[in-house]
Amino acid sequence: MDTPQIVLAQRVQLIKPSPTLAVNAKAKALKASGADVLNFSVGEPDFDTPAHVRAAGKQAIDDGHTRYTAVPGIIELREGICRRFAEDHGWKFTPDQIQVSCGGKHGLYNMAQVLFNPGDEVLIPTPYWVSYPPIVLLAGATPVLFPLDEKDDFDLNPDILRQHITPRTRAIILNSPSNPTGAVFSRKALEAVGAMALERGWIIISDDIYDTITFGNAPLPHILDVDPRLQAQTLVLNGVSKSFAMTGWRIGYTAGPKHIIAAMNKVQSQSTSNPSSVAQYAALAAVTGPQDFPGVMRQAFLPRRAYMVNTLRAMPGVTCVQPAGAFYVFPNMAAYFGRSFGGKPITGSVELAEFLLEEALVAVVPGAAFGADQFIRFSFAAAMDVIEEGLRRVGSALGKLT
Ligand SMILES: *Cc1c(COP(=O)(O)O)cnc(C)c1O
Repeated sequence: MDTPQIVLAQRVQLIKPSPTLAVNAKAKALKASGADVLNFSVGEPDFDTPAHVRAAGKQAIDDGHTRYTAVPGIIELREGICRRFAEDHGWKFTPDQIQVSCGGKHGLYNMAQVLFNPGDEVLIPTPYWVSYPPIVLLAGATPVLFPLDEKDDFDLNPDILRQHITPRTRAIILNSPSNPTGAVFSRKALEAVGAMALERGWIIISDDIYDTITFGNAPLPHILDVDPRLQAQTLVLNGVSKSFAMTGWRIGYTAGPKHIIAAMNKVQSQSTSNPSSVAQYAALAAVTGPQDFPGVMRQAFLPRRAYMVNTLRAMPGVTCVQPAGAFYVFPNMAAYFGRSFGGKPITGSVELAEFLLEEALVAVVPGAAFGADQFIRFSFAAAMDVIEEGLRRVGSALGKLT
């Protein structure tokens, strides 16, 4: 019998293959063959989950917390999350305004499914986190990308934003501190966005996953703090993946208007039912226990950030914004485009990342993955000696380009 030709659904055909796939696969293959690849492409903290959180996870198993939970997550965790929001920000949420999901990414997916229709446009500041456009596309809506400028330290420019508004604009996604730029949006920019959102009834999605990893002393400006009325049209996305080094536990959460959370619970009920019971109890320990862990990471990240920024800035042609949060630097390395090595031209960030992998055995993420081809993302969630050696290799490899 002939193999039947199975045609895939259109929605999945909309999703382009990730520009990082090829580089990732090559890095893995090199590593498997024994090459000493230094990895700066990782999007997670290089810390173990704190001991008290691990203990809570183990205890949950022995206590028999091994069955289905409530769809939006156990009530203790949702109450704990409400207390975190109240204590850390002064925001009032009730447990029926919280959904716990299988990672922050899944919360974003659930909200896109309940909010967007075909034709709806979602504004996405660019460089953007890789998952925003595909999640919007999978909901049938249209991502509308608008640029952030490194000359503004990747702050949001309201005038540029205004040029991308149409009658179909439905929502905007904010991510501050940002992956990949590490930038924090200024209060002034958020005030402008807030005013536009109030005037036009936009939904604001505020992805705060890095909000505990900031390097300044000033409090992080937040869209909910610019006008209390915005809470009725804002979804706040957070989770324990980054702040408690819990990426593998898969616990994120969304806070927002009751009826939107209720709709998200419908979707979650018919897809994952609930996040892992064991992981929810571990997250409960993270959210309700001591809050010093993100500060410990921050202290470790500070000298690494300084070293990375200074070393990259010292490389000919490279410009690099100092990130105000998260654990990435996003240098502009377009000065090397148009050069070549061994007859192979460097035409963009993907080729430059490939070159750095092959010549320096250094894995990075090309800016093309974030919609910003002039840049390369380096993570400083790596040990200082690895960072020193890696950047030494990058510098000497770049010197070989002609
Ligand atoms: C890591 C990350 C998330 C959430 O990741 P999960 O592992 O799904 O919790 C959300 N937004 C951004 C920008 C991230 O970098």
